[in-house]
Amino acid sequence: MFVPEQAAILCGGRGTRLRPITDRLPKPMVPVNGVPFLEYLLVQLRGNGIREVILMTGYLGQQIQEYFGDGNSLQLRLRYSHGPVEWDTGRRLYEIKPWLSDCFMLLYADNFAQVSLKKLARLHEEQGKLLTFTVQPKSSGNIRLAGDGAVEVYDKTRSAENLGFVELGYMIASKKIFEYYGEIDVSFSDIIAKLVSAKLVAAMIVGDAYHSVSDPDRLKLTEEYLKPKKILMIDRDGVINRKAPRGEYIASWNEFSFLRENVRGMKKLSEAGYSFIVISNQAGIARRMVTKDAVDAIHQRMRQTLEGEGIPVLDVYVCPHHWKENCLCRKPQPGLFFQASREWLFRLDKAYFVGDDPRDCQAAYRAGCGCVYIGSKDELKDLSPEEQPQWVVNNLEDAVPYLVKP
Ligand SMILES: [Mg+2]
Ligand SMILES: [Zn+2]
Repeated sequence: MFVPEQAAILCGGRGTRLRPITDRLPKPMVPVNGVPFLEYLLVQLRGNGIREVILMTGYLGQQIQEYFGDGNSLQLRLRYSHGPVEWDTGRRLYEIKPWLSDCFMLLYADNFAQVSLKKLARLHEEQGKLLTFTVQPKSSGNIRLAGDGAVEVYDKTRSAENLGFVELGYMIASKKIFEYYGEIDVSFSDIIAKLVSAKLVAAMIVGDAYHSVSDPDRLKLTEEYLKPKKILMIDRDGVINRKAPRGEYIASWNEFSFLRENVRGMKKLSEAGYSFIVISNQAGIARRMVTKDAVDAIHQRMRQTLEGEGIPVLDVYVCPHHWKENCLCRKPQPGLFFQASREWLFRLDKAYFVGDDPRDCQAAYRAGCGCVYIGSKDELKDLSPEEQPQWVVNNLEDAVPYLVKP
């Protein structure tokens, strides 16, 4: 599989909705937790294997170059293409054509989303289109997907029927897209529209929320989301408490017994500043073997007890569905991870999940977070290499040194 090592970022916009902050700063330089927003993108790209980034600047572009220079401090090679403010996005890209590799990554500078470049590159290769971009479900979107992952409609006016997705940036493009330019002074979205009409665009759906700096309210949320946080997601049965026998469910507090070695681990992690979010499959609810109220009551007691021991539990997320329902929240599906990240504003790509079932590892991989597996390696032989957990331990206490770094 070919994974691009070159990225190009559109950094030229005026950032009107962020005025007055952008009266003196170009939008990519808007500070987020004390560093320019663009720096988060660059660090993310570097972490995904990108080596060279071309910054297509416009409005106050020199400031970007003055700050980032040649990129050495970020272990990236940075190049700058400064153009007039009036240039549209398509024109900016056209101008750097001689610098581009046959296949490159293309981004806007105002969205941050958790995107695995490897997953995107694999889809790009499988689909064989000229452009593969990332999308997110949204009821009033501008994109319709065909069943096979191709983009069927791309409608800037948002007037077509059934447009259930929006684009997030984070694209992989082939240099052949330049054959679809007519005039060069165009918006890049016009080029996308042409490519879609020619059935040359594929999309990868990103379930995790994206964050943007396009207006002051979003900027505030994004700042909170990008703050480093010590949140550990954790499974319940078999990790916090002893599992019920196969096919049975813990139906009352009397049947709930803590696994002390793991609770000790939680305690140590709490002392190191961690809080916990529990993510649990409880198909017993759909199977009418335990009521939703009983599960809630158990979780209330569990939280009280843990919090009494100094272990903060931020939230408990439960999938109540039967496995036959094919919901998006039952592990190995990552739906509850995305919900947790959205509600508690933390980065999944910086977080871990602790589980005791191979499906927990699969869910963590699909959510884009790391995984600590409690159990033995031979239980994981059916997982793909990518789904393998970062650490396999006998109990959570043993994982503390990995999770608490000096
Ligand atoms: Mg479990
Ligand atoms: Zn569910």
